[in-house]
Amino acid sequence: MSEQHNNPEKTGDGADVAIMLLGRRGSPAAYAIRDFLHRSDVPYRWVELTSDEEARAKAQVSGLADPRLPVCLFPDGTRFENPTVRQITEKLGWFRNPSRSEYDLAIYGAGPAGLSAAVYGASDGLKTVVVERSAVGGQAGASPKIENYLGFPGGISGADLAERARQQAVRFGAEILLNREGVRGEFMPGKGIGYLADGAKIVARASVCATGVEYRRLGLPNEERFFGAGVYYGAGASEAMLCGRQHVFIVGGGNSAGQAALHFCRYTDKVTLVVREDSLQHSMSEYLIERLRATPQVEILLNTEVVALHGDEILRGITLRDNRTGAEWYAETSWLFLCLGGVPHTQWAEEVGIQRDSGGYLITGVDLKGDNGWPANWTLNREPYPMETNLPGVFAAGDVRHGSIKRFASAVGEGAMAVAYIHRYLTRG
Ligand SMILES: Cc1cc2nc3c(=O)[nH]c(=O)nc-3n(C[C@H](O)[C@H](O)[C@H](O)COP(=O)(O)OP(=O)(O)OC[C@H]3O[C@@H](n4cnc5c(N)ncnc54)[C@H](O)[C@@H]3O)c2cc1C
Repeated sequence: MSEQHNNPEKTGDGADVAIMLLGRRGSPAAYAIRDFLHRSDVPYRWVELTSDEEARAKAQVSGLADPRLPVCLFPDGTRFENPTVRQITEKLGWFRNPSRSEYDLAIYGAGPAGLSAAVYGASDGLKTVVVERSAVGGQAGASPKIENYLGFPGGISGADLAERARQQAVRFGAEILLNREGVRGEFMPGKGIGYLADGAKIVARASVCATGVEYRRLGLPNEERFFGAGVYYGAGASEAMLCGRQHVFIVGGGNSAGQAALHFCRYTDKVTLVVREDSLQHSMSEYLIERLRATPQVEILLNTEVVALHGDEILRGITLRDNRTGAEWYAETSWLFLCLGGVPHTQWAEEVGIQRDSGGYLITGVDLKGDNGWPANWTLNREPYPMETNLPGVFAAGDVRHGSIKRFASAVGEGAMAVAYIHRYLTRG
């Protein structure tokens, strides 16, 4: 299975890359690498090993059970056995340490909101750093085709759009630290310190939290066990070509589920959309509903839930339940994609006194004003700027922000707006 990309700017040394990844089907480690490479728009070829002989001949390991799988081969001859995504990032020349002891602007999250803030911050001359836990693009990076973003009438893949934004931000001088996770913050007047999971710290005069949301889980007992081995979160753009005409199930009634269903139809014979609600009307755009209805391979099961997962090393089947009748039935599948929306991960914010709503979204601007006025820890004699949290100089943009519209374009707009108010903060306090 191979994917063609043409993006010579991606490598640190300016050369194009064509990585070969060899592994067995249903390997979570191989999935993590495929997902990262796909989102990052890096050319790679996936070679699925189906027998011990093939594993010996092609990957030079003892068999399919060899823990050295997956094997990753780079064009310069470098061979990684069961590598981490970080090792791949390092090899690509993308794993960097912060180059400055202090920045004007630190952005956490390189989804649409963070990338937009990076483009506007860096192009306005702010010393800007972006910290991203995984690959650039965020949720959008998993979208096979974004069709409602202004200026792309034929649609564009999320990975492609994210890669363009990454290049744009870097061209203006933003520093992007991939595979680094912000875990804790410390904020004082005029300065914020972000602590990363690997011990590094980022000091900046202003910060933007653009960490978006994380995919919601189904909450079934063996869900984690099958993650990357039949159960996938999001539209699974890297997996579509590997389904080999097998029956694919997608859970969710939103636009991401609709997009995924249409995308999978290009590679497989039957896609079943499992929707808990009794209609798609309230959760999915009309253009997607119409297209789904016009696509014979798509089956839509309303009022239905996945209630159990079955398998061995990989997912082999699921139990579905019709919530109106209570009837349950088994369906054979090794492909279950969960497009269930997301939840923000903002526990760190509570620890530093940033206000969140009941869902964990960060509250900003006028929304901070309650019946008793501004929050007790708001000490300035001005009102918080739009998109500013109750800690001066700490802003939130995109899906993580309370009241945000969960759209690509609005995340991009919020990233740009946050930078406009950050200028005000940096000049007037
Ligand atoms: C499959 C799919 C298809 C979609 N299709 C469309 C569409 O067609 N049109 C549309 O308008 N919208 C679409 N959306 C919604 C849109 O993608 C989101 O609204 C948008 O991505 C939100 O952007 P964001 O930057 O706020 O957050 P996200 O995209 O969630 O990005 C947040 C980023 O922050 C990173 N991060 C999280 N925590 C940390 C941390 N502690 N440290 C460092 N980094 C961190 C994450 O890894 C991620 O990269 C789609 C969403 C999905 C999932």
